[in-house]
Amino acid sequence: MIDETEIYLDECPASPLGHILVLRSSMEGGNEPPYLSMDSINDVTIHLTHACNLKCRHCYLSAGKPLSGELNVDDWLHILDKLRDLEVKYVYLLGGEPTLLIKRGLLRIISHAKDLGLYVSMSTNGTLINRENALQLKRAGLDQVQVSLDGPNPAVNDVIRGFGSFNKAIRAINVFREVGIAVSLSYTVIPDNAYYVIDMVKLTERLRVPVLTFIRAQEFGRARENGLSLSDELARMVIKDLMRIRTNVKLVLNGFRFSLSDLYEVYRKSRERLNALKIINYSTCPAGRSRFVIDSDGNVYGCELLMSKEFYEGNALRDDLRAIWRDGFRSFRGRRYAEIRPCSTCPMADLCNASCPARAFTAFGSVNSPDPYCPIIKELINKSR
Ligand code: SF4
Ligand code: SF4
Repeated sequence: MIDETEIYLDECPASPLGHILVLRSSMEGGNEPPYLSMDSINDVTIHLTHACNLKCRHCYLSAGKPLSGELNVDDWLHILDKLRDLEVKYVYLLGGEPTLLIKRGLLRIISHAKDLGLYVSMSTNGTLINRENALQLKRAGLDQVQVSLDGPNPAVNDVIRGFGSFNKAIRAINVFREVGIAVSLSYTVIPDNAYYVIDMVKLTERLRVPVLTFIRAQEFGRARENGLSLSDELARMVIKDLMRIRTNVKLVLNGFRFSLSDLYEVYRKSRERLNALKIINYSTCPAGRSRFVIDSDGNVYGCELLMSKEFYEGNALRDDLRAIWRDGFRSFRGRRYAEIRPCSTCPMADLCNASCPARAFTAFGSVNSPDPYCPIIKELINKSR
């Protein structure tokens, strides 16, 4: 009998650290994922390529073709050395689809990262995985993998991710488990699949996967082009559904905080357990504080949702990464909270820190703006109309 489902909240919709820590602690027999301070670099996300063999309707990167000037394997090995020197703890390998590189250096990248003592997680759509290459990934030292599925059956998933992608992902999940790679699942919630979250939890149980992450789709890339952001009403329904299910699958929610009915209580008790919710990242934006992102051409940014020239910090291959970390990320580190209304007078400001700069920039053209997802801000905007 399961008394209470473990649900973890991470407000940042982009950070992989929530699911990495929950899966790691689950595999290592820990009760709670470790608390990591925001004072040093916890994780770096590496987009190894923008190439992808799928064309998911909500992809924030609009992945498909490789970027011009994508780095080669030796370049990435050199960058990993630099990350080790910066005492980075976790690297998250992302695409596009990183397994497109499995015969072009992916295994060397993983084994080098492991030799350097880094913890290595990877995201994949699973469509190219077979027993042989899963074993190669295991032998290279891959610590964990997250497989993306956006529906509990082919009918829901394949409309979003492409015909045949459901069955291939299921095969990959089973193969990863057989060869002994820790696996979690991710589900990007859009209007089309919001009604199936309970079925997805049940599928995750049947697959004997310990962790499932629900990511609220953000208005970037193809999700924006296709108008796939989730309304507050649907987001609240998803939270309500997940709060009532009893499961031994640990659930991670990325980007749902502003649709909680007891938002203020969550803030007030942010270090405690509250209504089965555990807070992983309560001070919101880790960009340039405890994480950064390297794009497939080596360019460094604070956040994958803001990989544009305004937020370019330098190149991880050509430039001094230590100097970038020491002096860069001013858009994020220098965000002028006191000038952002109504955040400057909000009782939750010291915990929320005006929330997500990527959403603020996209909505209002400046990171020194409020987050349009915040209900307080939405109300103000509605009143001023
Ligand atoms: S700007 Fe910060 S909070 Fe927003 S998605 Fe990026 S890292 Fe997360
Ligand atoms: S008003 Fe600003 S500080 Fe307050 S909850 Fe909303 S985004 Fe956070």
